[in-house]
Order: sequence, then structure tokens, then C-alpha cells
Amino acid sequence: MIEPNQKHKLKDEDLRYFIAYINDVVHPSSKEFNERLTKNELELHQAFSFNAILAHAIDYMVFLASKTGRQSRAKFIKEFDEKYSVDGSTHINNKFRLLDAVNNSFKHVELDRKRYKDLIEKYGKLSFSCLSSIKGKVYFETPNFKFDYGRVILRPIKEIFNIEISDSHAVTAFINGKIYGCSGQGAFIHEYEPWDAIDRMIEYCGAPCIDCGESDNCECSDFRYGEQKGKFTPDVDPRFNLDDVMSQISGTREWSK
Ligand SMILES: [Zn+2]
Repeated sequence: MIEPNQKHKLKDEDLRYFIAYINDVVHPSSKEFNERLTKNELELHQAFSFNAILAHAIDYMVFLASKTGRQSRAKFIKEFDEKYSVDGSTHINNKFRLLDAVNNSFKHVELDRKRYKDLIEKYGKLSFSCLSSIKGKVYFETPNFKFDYGRVILRPIKEIFNIEISDSHAVTAFINGKIYGCSGQGAFIHEYEPWDAIDRMIEYCGAPCIDCGESDNCECSDFRYGEQKGKFTPDVDPRFNLDDVMSQISGTREWSK
């Protein structure tokens, strides 16, 4: 968190570096990652490399925040998880911390047990080999956890960084959780009139899974999150009512005869 009255402590060059990093590194690599993810052509080294790019953006935000006041890295990342926990998997609410731990387990042979104590307790021993690639998908697997790391962790974090950022105001707002990109989860813009009933029906039937972003190809029922089993969790409009939609659709057909 950057306090409003502390913003002057940030140097222009520090802010410019962050803006350039987001625009010149994070955005192009996000685009490339997304193409590979969508086509199921994601390889292990590409997942680790994108993970490292995102982790560096987090490191840089920690650096900026620390210039404006004393703040521990662990606390900053935890707060970031809390601010952005809405988007993405319903099972994992510590996406940024996990991304950070995976990055560190990749960089160092052994993860710092003290620093990542709670994550190790939750997920088990974290190491480079927790991620593996099978048929173009990259999975996270420990004895009690298994899920699609590309879709459950990297995909929503990529979306959060999908922001227009060009000035110092945007940087501070982003670090403070005031602006962020999102996957569009939970966004339903309809008139709820007979003329958009067919659109609502199509949207409902093809609703993507909140956890993985897939619809027909969702594999969530094969995943494990500790005690919980994963399942297809469609991102459907809470206002959708099948009977109303059906009668509106048949009403529209009557009129067009
Ligand atoms: Zn799913």
C-alpha cells in the first residue's frame, strides 16, 4: 500500500521503469501466454518464464511500496491477494503468494522454510517439480493438490495485470488495488427484455468455469484442493431464470411469425 501523502517519495525513474515493464514486458508476454494457453500448447519452461515475469512485477511493486514506508514483503503480497481475491478460482485465495513461492522454488534449490512456512504447511513441500506439463497444459501437483496451474493461477493474475498504465497516478492506484484488469467474471449486461432472451440463453449454456475459464473442456472435477474436490463452477448470471427466458423466447417467435 502506498499512502497518498507518501507518493512524493517515489522517483520518476522508478515509476517509469514500472510502467515500461508492464507495457513492454508483461503485456506482450501475457498475450503470448494466452495464445498458448488457449490452444493447449503451454510448455513447462514457458509457464516458469511467465511466472517469473509476473513475480518480478510483484517484486517491483514491493520495492515501490517499501520506498514510501516500512512494509514487509510478505504483508504486501498477502494484502494484494486480499484485494484481488475475487477474480479466478474459488478454491485458491492466495494466488499471488503461491506464484511468488513457485518462482522462488524455481530460482533456489530449496524454498526458504521460514518465509514460506504457511504455504508449505498448506501445499506440502514446494519445489521446481511441483509443476509438470502434460499435453500442452501445465499442472501443479503435490500429494493433496492437483490443478491446472496455467488456468487456475497464471490466467487470473495475467488478467489483473491487463491494465492501461501510463502515469504515476495509475501506478499508485494499481498498487493500492483501485484499478485492475479482470476476466469479466460476474459481468452480465442485459436489458432482461424479450429481445435479449436468446443471448441470455446462449450465454447461460456456454458459461465458462470460474476456476479454469473453460466451458466444455473444463477438467476441474479431476482436481484436488486439499480436502476439497474441484468441480465445474459456471459463471452464470444470478438473475437468469430458465422459465422466464423460455417464455420470452417463445413469445419472440410468436411475434416474428
Ligand atoms: Zn473448470
